[in-house]
Amino acid sequence: MNGLRVRGVPIYDFPVPSWNKGKKQTYAMTPKKIVVHNTYNKATAKAESSYMVGNSNWTSFHSVVDDIAIYENVPFNRNTWHCGATYGNRNYIGIEIAKSTGNALEFAKAERNAAKYVAATLKKYGWGIDRVETHQKQSGKYCPHKTLDLGWQRFLNMINEELNGQKTIINNILNKPEVKANYSVQVSVGKGETLNVRSQPSANAKVVNAYNDGSIIYVEAVARDEYNNAWYKIPKIGYVSAAYCKGIDNRPKIVLYYGDGDKPIAELIASKHKVKCYRDDGTRTKKDYNIMYVGGKQYKDRFESAKVAVNAYL
Ligand SMILES: [Zn+2]
Repeated sequence: MNGLRVRGVPIYDFPVPSWNKGKKQTYAMTPKKIVVHNTYNKATAKAESSYMVGNSNWTSFHSVVDDIAIYENVPFNRNTWHCGATYGNRNYIGIEIAKSTGNALEFAKAERNAAKYVAATLKKYGWGIDRVETHQKQSGKYCPHKTLDLGWQRFLNMINEELNGQKTIINNILNKPEVKANYSVQVSVGKGETLNVRSQPSANAKVVNAYNDGSIIYVEAVARDEYNNAWYKIPKIGYVSAAYCKGIDNRPKIVLYYGDGDKPIAELIASKHKVKCYRDDGTRTKKDYNIMYVGGKQYKDRFESAKVAVNAYL
């Protein structure tokens, strides 16, 4: 399947050389199930492939997947030696998920890619999710160790999502709860571009809306997707990727009003704090909720009252 992609993940052929085929892919096979493994090391799928096809021991597998790509080493019509049980070794496809002792985020991506690949393989053969098993089930070995640690059913759910084309995204892979927020940000995607709003905090979730570049949006909470990327939750609308928004200074703009006789003081304060000042002519409206007024009996003098007023917002 060289050059192909499964849901965006590239697939590369990395075949066993002729001299090693007798050992690594000994018999013809009609595949009946898929057995999932973890490599129990930090190596990339490419390095793992290179090691497997070139060494002289009997261990082999059909394909290996990491956070970047899928490597196919043995065609599914030949057997491999992967699961410590004769029947499984002669009848089941062995798929390794790489980097299982490495970086947690890279492994999360590797598992997601493996789920896509397994789902595509199930579809190819017309199989259901019941055809996916652990190495542990074949011979008792605790493999795929990291996938089992994180939850086998969780991994099956990922495959099911890919199978069903469901975009329900699991925010629980890294188990990060949403963190409450209360501020606004500005959409920054480039002139004329729009930013998708999605139903869940994930690039795979359904698009439910879009914002134009420059839009100001209110952020209720910050969520994390399966790759630990931040998403802003917009109340009753959805989620946008935080990578395409920038912070804004949304402190209220201060306008200083002054009464008769206070102009010099008001101007001094206004200039010092770089705010505008106007004579209070009674035209203030409720909209000017952030206006400050120079004056007030509770203060010793006009200067102090203005300073208190401005400092309250700076
Ligand atoms: Zn295994």
